Amino acid sequence: MAAETVSNLIFTGPLAWTVDAACVGQTDLFFAPAGERPETRILREARSRAICRNCEVVAPCRDWARSMREYGFWGGESEEERAAAGYRVDMPVGRVARYPKGDGQPVKPRESRVA
Ligand code: SF4
Repeated sequence: MAAETVSNLIFTGPLAWTVDAACVGQTDLFFAPAGERPETRILREARSRAICRNCEVVAPCRDWARSMREYGFWGGESEEERAAAGYRVDMPVGRVARYPKGDGQPVKPRESRVA
């Protein structure tokens, strides 16, 4: 069996939907920089969410991020929202307390502070 390559994943495999992504070239909006402050994160994620809202591949994007336990903002969901839906990110020690513990069950996401 041939080794799976990144280009195979993107062009013919489970990431084929990425060619229609509305966020191309906007990585900075979808992944937090080191040391991002909570207030900045809220604003960044609000901008990400607005882009996702008009994206035609939101469903496969969300499914991918949930199944792969991705970091960042995918498919209209933050890491916390994925955790609340039962798809908690595996994270380094020290960040665990920020995320809800679902014990395999969905938990309520933190209330948004953005009006
Ligand atoms: S749903 Fe959002 S994160 Fe996913 S491809 Fe579209 S714009 Fe990017």
